[in-house]
Amino acid sequence: MKVAIQNNDKEISVEVAEKLKELLQAAEIEIDPTNPDILITIGGDGTLLSGFHRYAHQLDTLRFIGVHTGRLGFYTDWREYELESLVESLKNDDGQYVAYPLLDVSVVYEGDRQENNFLALNESTIQKKGGTLVSDVFINEDHFERFRGDGICVSTPTGSTGYNKSVGGAVLHPSLEALQMAEIASINNRVFRTLSSPLVIAKDEEIVIKSSEAQELVLTLDHITTTETDVKEIHMKIAEESVRFARYRHMHFWNRVSDAFIGDRYQ
Ligand code: NAD
Repeated sequence: MKVAIQNNDKEISVEVAEKLKELLQAAEIEIDPTNPDILITIGGDGTLLSGFHRYAHQLDTLRFIGVHTGRLGFYTDWREYELESLVESLKNDDGQYVAYPLLDVSVVYEGDRQENNFLALNESTIQKKGGTLVSDVFINEDHFERFRGDGICVSTPTGSTGYNKSVGGAVLHPSLEALQMAEIASINNRVFRTLSSPLVIAKDEEIVIKSSEAQELVLTLDHITTTETDVKEIHMKIAEESVRFARYRHMHFWNRVSDAFIGDRYQ
C-alpha cells in the first residue's frame, strides 16, 4: 500500500498533513507521491478536485480519500481528529471502494487542429467570453434547441450539489449513471425559447454543443478555466473512466445533503 498526501496551504491542513505522515510512517505505510494506490487530500472539496486533476492519468489504479479541515465537504468523509482511525483503516484495507461517474469533454476545432479531451469530476460549463452564448444543443445526433444566454452547465451526479445546484439543477444520487444539463440564465421570450429546466440524460447518450458562428468560449472543468478559440463543437458524455473513493465506512448521501444545505431544522 502506497499513499500520497496533498494538502491546501492553510495552517491547519499543513499541520494535519505532518501528523498524518508521522502516523503513516509509524504504521510502516509507504508514502509515494509518484505512484500511489491512495491519494489522501487534506483541506476541502477544492483540494480534492485539485488532487483529482493532478492524478487524472492514474485513475485506474488510484483511490481517493478526502480529509476536511474546514466545513463539511462533499468529497471529504474524514475529519482531522480521526487520523488514527483513518490509518487503522488503511492498515486493514482490502481494496474496497465506491466508484462514481465522470464527465468526458471533447472539444472539436475548426480546421486541422486536433481535438482536445478533458475529464471533470463536478462539471463543465461553457460560456461566451463577454456576451451571450448562442449555441445549438444536440442530444446525440438530434437537434434539441438553440440556446441563448449566459451559458450551459453539464454536471456529474457527484457534481450536482456544486455549481449545478446554484443554477437550479436537481441533486442526483451519485450511484446514478447520468449527466445533467442546466441552463445558466437563458433568454426566453416570444422569439427565443429553450427548455428552461434542467434535463438528465442517460448513460449511453451525449450532449453536443455547436456554435452557430466562431466564438471565443470560456470552458470550465471543475476549478479550471480555459479559453477556447475556433471551436466547432463540444461533446459531453459519461467518461469510460470513473473515480474511486476508498470506502471504509458508509456515509449516507441524503444525510450529507441535508446537513450541508438545510442544517438543523428543528430548533
Ligand atoms: P471552491 O473550491 O472554493 O468551491 C466553492 C464551493 O463549492 C465550496 O464551498 C466547495 O465545498 C463547494 N463544492 C465543490 N464541489 C462540490 C460538490 N460536488 N458538491 C457540493 N459543494 C461543492 O471553488 P472553485 O475551486 O472555484 O471551484 C470548484 C467547484 O466549486 C466547482 O466545480 C463548482 O462546482 C463549485 N462552484 C460553485 C459555485 C456556485 O455554486 N455558484 C461557484 C463556483 C464554483
